[in-house]
Amino acid sequence: MSRDDPIDRSGLRDRYWETTPLDRMTQREWEALCDGCGKCCLNKLEDEETGEVALTRVACRLFDDTTCKCAQYPIRQQFVPECITLRPQEIDRHLYWLPQTCAYRLRHEGRPLYDWHPLISGNADSVHDAGVSMLSRTVPEYEIDEDDWEDHIIEEPL
Ligand code: SF4
Ligand code: SF4
Repeated sequence: MSRDDPIDRSGLRDRYWETTPLDRMTQREWEALCDGCGKCCLNKLEDEETGEVALTRVACRLFDDTTCKCAQYPIRQQFVPECITLRPQEIDRHLYWLPQTCAYRLRHEGRPLYDWHPLISGNADSVHDAGVSMLSRTVPEYEIDEDDWEDHIIEEPL
């Protein structure tokens, strides 16, 4: 079943992500770069000694893994004040935790997008079909004790 693309990717400049630096993109171009994988809505574990970050499949309480979207995106910060809004100027300080396949990381590092990215495939489902999204793959944080999160670490890329 095809899902509606929650992001408006219509009418964008052809392959703009290859020619336009992140901090020169329009707001729509910036938002369209998100592949909808949902991995930034996962809880992370940081090793205090090495600083290494591991993603877990324990998702934020607002993440709906039947749609792979935030259930309350426009008002999410009322419920999850720590949820960030990623901005081009702040990518550097978020790199330590951004998923390996995240399009913002890839472009920041000068790497190409994957063929399954909706901007390339023209289909929002391709990220799910490729098995790299968190659709139907998470457990909610209110069901798992924080001490047990390490049992749910995922290897990237999925
Ligand atoms: S990890 Fe990156 S590409 Fe995936 S949903 Fe989050 S911001 Fe979008
Ligand atoms: S509040 Fe919404 S966008 Fe933020 S981490 Fe949770 S599910 Fe994701």
